[in-house]
Amino acid sequence: MKKTKKDVANDVEKERPEQQDHKALGAKLDLFTFSDLVGPGLPLWTPKGTLIRHLLDDFVWELRQKRGYSKVEIPHITKKDLYIKSGHWDKFKDELFQIKTREGHIFALKPMNCPHHTQIFARKIHSYKELPQRYANTTMMYRDEQTGELSGILRVRAISIDDSHIFARRSQVKEEIINAWDIIQEFYNSFGFKLQASLSLRDPKRPEKYLGNPSVWQETEQILREVAKHKATKTKEDIGEAAFYGPKIDFISQDSLGRKWQMATIQLDMNMPERFNLYCINEKGQEERIVMIHYAVMGSLERFLANLLEHFAGALPLWLSPEQIWIIPITSKQTQYAKEIAKMFQVAGFRFQVRDENETLSKRIREGETQKIPYLLVIGEKEEKSKNISVRRRGKDMGSMRLDKFLKQTIDEISKKDWE
Ligand SMILES: [Zn+2]
Repeated sequence: MKKTKKDVANDVEKERPEQQDHKALGAKLDLFTFSDLVGPGLPLWTPKGTLIRHLLDDFVWELRQKRGYSKVEIPHITKKDLYIKSGHWDKFKDELFQIKTREGHIFALKPMNCPHHTQIFARKIHSYKELPQRYANTTMMYRDEQTGELSGILRVRAISIDDSHIFARRSQVKEEIINAWDIIQEFYNSFGFKLQASLSLRDPKRPEKYLGNPSVWQETEQILREVAKHKATKTKEDIGEAAFYGPKIDFISQDSLGRKWQMATIQLDMNMPERFNLYCINEKGQEERIVMIHYAVMGSLERFLANLLEHFAGALPLWLSPEQIWIIPITSKQTQYAKEIAKMFQVAGFRFQVRDENETLSKRIREGETQKIPYLLVIGEKEEKSKNISVRRRGKDMGSMRLDKFLKQTIDEISKKDWE
């Protein structure tokens, strides 16, 4: 019997040790939940899960801001006219959530952001001096996936994407793609993911699958090859894997279990600017057709987070942990000292808790380890006298340490985004 997509997904599930399953980890660490009333494929994010999403997105923004990006925002619905013009209505109308307004008009929940973003660019005439325009927008998009294909937060109906669209002249494209590639590399390196790039190209034997004419495709595919050469990366070419509007670079990462995931993509698009008549006024005062680059660093934030949880078996790096430190006084006699220490962590901007409840020490330590709290600081009579702390990191006893040394060390660990 032929295996369905669902069977294959289940097989992958079986191969994964339970302590590394993102759904089990998400529940245990209290990051996200689902509700029958809200519906399948629509995750709800708890305070801890939301914090992680924001920290990840802030990191992506930090990398983009340095390279001249601006944030934009768009509504989550649109008249269907936008997708008729972009060509998406013909291709994807069955996967769109459609809305009928009370006046009888058909609107759609956005399944992607590019068409909306073109309308921000098109709000005025741009001089060549204003290009490139780099828009960044982390936002949700919606796809009517079949219920059987949904899987935890790996495959959902409300997908958050750290989207970006660059509107550039042809002469600027190569440099812009290299910049985007740099951002992607820096981001994934900081988690210890190994990245492999592949070029997804058009299948010349099936021209009916793609928008635009073959000479445009040849030109855009050549630009991607040059970028790959510049990056001195061994890339493979996947014929027939291009998007319908342009070729792309796909980044495949390998996680700690040796599994491969498709993560970031950079897509070159000369078709959408044609459809929406996007241009700039060049040095000669003429209208010059521009090019769009689409890319996301994490891609689907949900899928990225699922991979990240499994990659680290839930033990996220210090900078990304929703709770970074638990201060555990051995008896109630040390509670006062524990609270004094806590004040210092508060001033230094840590996320911490004082666990002074009436439980045995070993139970509180075990709970902290189950919750994947990076640092457990145990405070007894000895520590109070010497003004030291006893440090446990990820189940390992690191011994006694001066508080100021610990603070300096952990602040450093956060600023470097260490993951080991
Ligand atoms: Zn796009």
